[in-house]
Amino acid sequence: MVVKNESVIHGRYRVVILGGGIHGVGVAHDLASRGWCDVLVVEKSVLGGGTSSKSTKLIHGGLRYLQHPRDFPLVAEGLEERALLTKLAPDIVKPLPFIFPVMKKGGMPRFMIKIGLWLYDALSYGRSLGKHSWLSLDDALKEAPILDKAVFKGFYKFFDGQTDDLALVRRVAKSASQLGATIVEHASARHLSHDQNGWQVSIDVGGVTKVVTAKYVVNALGPWAHEFFEGSGIKPKVEGINNQGTHLLLRDLGLKSGLFLQSPDDGRIFFVLPWLGYTLIGTTEDIYTGRADDCQPEAKQVEYLLERCNRFLSVKLRAEDVIKTFAGMRWLARDVGSDISDTSRTHLVTEHKIGTDILYTIYGGKLTAYRALAEEIASKITKSFGDESPSKTHLPEAWAKEDSLPEEFRLPERFSRI
Ligand SMILES: Cc1cc2nc3c(=O)[nH]c(=O)nc-3n(C[C@H](O)[C@H](O)[C@H](O)COP(=O)(O)OP(=O)(O)OC[C@H]3O[C@@H](n4cnc5c(N)ncnc54)[C@H](O)[C@@H]3O)c2cc1C
Repeated sequence: MVVKNESVIHGRYRVVILGGGIHGVGVAHDLASRGWCDVLVVEKSVLGGGTSSKSTKLIHGGLRYLQHPRDFPLVAEGLEERALLTKLAPDIVKPLPFIFPVMKKGGMPRFMIKIGLWLYDALSYGRSLGKHSWLSLDDALKEAPILDKAVFKGFYKFFDGQTDDLALVRRVAKSASQLGATIVEHASARHLSHDQNGWQVSIDVGGVTKVVTAKYVVNALGPWAHEFFEGSGIKPKVEGINNQGTHLLLRDLGLKSGLFLQSPDDGRIFFVLPWLGYTLIGTTEDIYTGRADDCQPEAKQVEYLLERCNRFLSVKLRAEDVIKTFAGMRWLARDVGSDISDTSRTHLVTEHKIGTDILYTIYGGKLTAYRALAEEIASKITKSFGDESPSKTHLPEAWAKEDSLPEEFRLPERFSRI
C-alpha cells in the first residue's frame, strides 16, 4: 500500500530510497521482487510528480540517438525494454505509429532517414512493433491531416511506444508495495549522515521528523540529488547538469500518428503527438541552472515550439491554443567537453562506501530503461549483501493488476497540481 502517513515509518531498514520517481519506485520494485521487503521509499510530493511525469511519454529506443555510435547500446536496450513493457503493462505502454517527413528544403536527406530507420528496425529485430515503410501523401494526410503538404517531399512511417508516465510510475509503485516495500508520499528527506550504526536519514513527514537507519541508501532524487547532498555536506562523485525540457498540451488536432519533426535551422528534433485525447508538443532543451523546485516552462520556449510547429502544419497554432505547459529536467552526469545536446543519455551510478554501508546515486537514465537500471542497482545491493536472488520484474506475476489513476490526476488539470 502506498501511504501518506508517518506512522508506518519505523527505525531501521535495509534499504532506504530517496525519491519516488520512476527510478526510486523501480529499485524498490526490483528489490521486493527478489524478496527484499525491508525497503522504504520516501517521496516529498506525489509519486511521479517530478521529472517522471514531465517526459515526452515515449517508450522508445530513441531514433535520434542513432546519430552517435556510442549510443547504439542505449538504443538497443531501450528497444528491448520497450518490447517488455508493452507486454507487462499493455494498458499503459502502447505502440504508436510515427511519421518522419522528408523536407523539400533543409532537414535530413531521405537516404539518411532511410539508413536510420533501417538501423532502428535491425536493432529491434525479434522485438519489433512494426517495420518502417514509405507513405504516400494521401496516407500521410489520413494519419495527420494537419501536415502542410507544401513543405514535404515525402514521408516515412515507423513505430515506437507511448505511455502515460505518471500511470507507469504509480503501477510500478503499487507492484512494489504489493510485494512488501513501504512507500510513503509527502515525506521529504532532509539530511543524510553516517555513524557506526549505518546511514542516518532524517525525514520530514507531516511536520514530524523521523530518523531512520539504513545499510544501503539510494539517492534517486534526479534533479534534486545534488541539492540534497549540499544540505547534508556530502561531496558528489561527479558533476551533474540539468537540462530543461518544455512541453505544450493542446486540444486534439486529429493526429492518428505521432510526428517526428526536425527544425531545419538548428537541427533540433521535436514531436507532435496524439496523447490521451489531447495533442502534446515537445520538447526544447536548454541548460537549467536554477533550483530544481523553481523549474517552470518559459515563454520563449513556448514561442519557439509554436513557431517551429507552424512551419510544418497547415493550421497555425497560437499561444491561446495551449491548454497547459509543463517543464521537466533531464539530470545528467556531465560529459566534460560536450555541449548539452551531445551529452550521452546513458546513465551513471556512483557509490559512496563506508565500511560495508553504501550510498548509491543515480544520474541520467530514461523512463524507457528504468527497469534495467533498477535491476542493475538492486543487483549491486543484493550482491554486496551476499544474496544472489534474481530479479523478477520481467515477469507478469511481479506486476500489480490493471487499474486506472485516481480522479485527482485527470487531464488537463493534472499539470496544475504536480
Ligand atoms: C523533457 C524531458 C523529456 C523526456 N522524455 C522522455 C521520453 O520520452 N522517454 C524516456 O524514456 N525518457 C524521457 N525522459 C527521461 C525520463 O523522464 C527521466 O530519466 C526519468 O523520469 C527520471 O526519473 P527519476 O526517478 O530519476 O527522477 P524524478 O522523476 O525527478 O524523481 C525524483 C523524485 O524525487 C522527489 N524529491 C525531491 N527532493 C526530495 C526529497 N528531499 N525527499 C524526497 N523526495 C524528493 C521529487 O519530488 C521527484 O518525484 C525525459 C526527460 C525530460 C526532462
